[in-house]
Amino acid sequence: MDVIETAAWWAIEQPGWVERVFERHVSDDGRCTGCGSYRPVPWPCVLVVIARRAQELIELGRAQRGGVGERPAPRRPAPMRPRVPGQRVTPGAA
Ligand SMILES: [Zn+2]
Repeated sequence: MDVIETAAWWAIEQPGWVERVFERHVSDDGRCTGCGSYRPVPWPCVLVVIARRAQELIELGRAQRGGVGERPAPRRPAPMRPRVPGQRVTPGAA
């Protein structure tokens, strides 16, 4: 699972996050207006990429559930706990 995918899943959990990114992070002559003002960031910035993916996942979930609900249906990683890949937490193991 790559970082964009993981971040997109996280973004879905944040109410209004995707909409805010699309509102604020728009192209101004190929630069992102929402990212650091002191340093030009090429558009689409990483947040836009994440927001696009999140939107895709949301729409995918809606399509699968017949247009009901905000949460996508496909299998998902645990969203609340960032985990290092390969590192396993085994409850009970000493
Ligand atoms: Zn941006």
